[in-house]
Amino acid sequence: MQLYNKLSAKERAELIDQAGKNRLTLSFYQYAKIQNPQEFRDQLFIVWDKLDVLGRIYVAHEGINGQLSLPADRFNEFKTHLDTIDFLKDIRLNVAVEQDNKSFLKLKVKVREKIVADGLNDETFDVTNKGVHLKAEDFNRFIEDENTVLVDMRNHYESEIGHFKNAVTPDVDTFRESLDIIEDDLKEHKEDKNLVMYCTGGIRCEKASAYFKHKGFKNVFQLEGGIIEYTRQVKEQNLENKFLGQNFVFDERRAERISDDVIANCHQCGEPFDLHTNCANDACHLLFIQCPKCQEEMENCCSTACMEINRLPYEEQKALRKGQGNSNDIFKKGRADHLPYKKDLRNIFDHFKQEEA
Ligand SMILES: [Zn+2]
Ligand SMILES: [Zn+2]
Repeated sequence: MQLYNKLSAKERAELIDQAGKNRLTLSFYQYAKIQNPQEFRDQLFIVWDKLDVLGRIYVAHEGINGQLSLPADRFNEFKTHLDTIDFLKDIRLNVAVEQDNKSFLKLKVKVREKIVADGLNDETFDVTNKGVHLKAEDFNRFIEDENTVLVDMRNHYESEIGHFKNAVTPDVDTFRESLDIIEDDLKEHKEDKNLVMYCTGGIRCEKASAYFKHKGFKNVFQLEGGIIEYTRQVKEQNLENKFLGQNFVFDERRAERISDDVIANCHQCGEPFDLHTNCANDACHLLFIQCPKCQEEMENCCSTACMEINRLPYEEQKALRKGQGNSNDIFKKGRADHLPYKKDLRNIFDHFKQEEA
């Protein structure tokens, strides 16, 4: 029985083209007690592989977190299967705002310690004591309230290309870092302000809100279903959209456009642009923002040094990399001194503190 992905991304892309079917990209998560994550993972893989599901799914004792795509005409079968699993019955599926048949090119179902790498010790606080979930309409009302502090729970490269109006966007590489920064900056306001938070699909706020309540914050709220569900509700109910720019996503699409505002800049020339790319030099792979003009001039690279390496024959590049360790941890990067227009988001937070003073 096949339990792991066997096709390369290129082979898969060709198959998707040949099939000529529309695919649906979606995500969901659920915290639930899973006794045997490995067994559950294998069962999912067998069923989903048959349904032509592709994506990145994490399974742990604490639950499941999935981002995936599947042929639109197999959606009902997929949903029927989810409904056979008691903790996934009637689960909300966050359907992507912008669709792309090639959002995922492999099916990876992985057993992990946690479904989000949050760096928290769950034994030290009550993870079920969450913040109040807000629907888009209530969220819009709350964030206009002068007693509200709106906090983006995502990382710097995510909020750089899109965030809610007036949101505080901590300049962090990881979720764990942002918790301490936010707590420290708001320590005088644990009781008198509304702490309203949001993330991409809602999962990060589930733990963060419980953590902040544990730390003594009295009025903690979170955007239900994150930016994706917010956008759906805004469209469906004809509400005012208060999100500016693009929603960063962790798949081949890179981002989905929520509003026409372009709030970021090409990191190389400073022109308004808001889509990330990875440096073409495999040994670098830096995640950064590059406009089409710089992309052409720089041959998809982040620096002239990377350009020179990238021009070498593949075997020579490989020899150069030997022993250096090739980091594929692409989303943790996105900072480099040679990119003159990378914004320092710390200033946004400082600005907020000045207003407070
Ligand atoms: Zn540029
Ligand atoms: Zn580079």
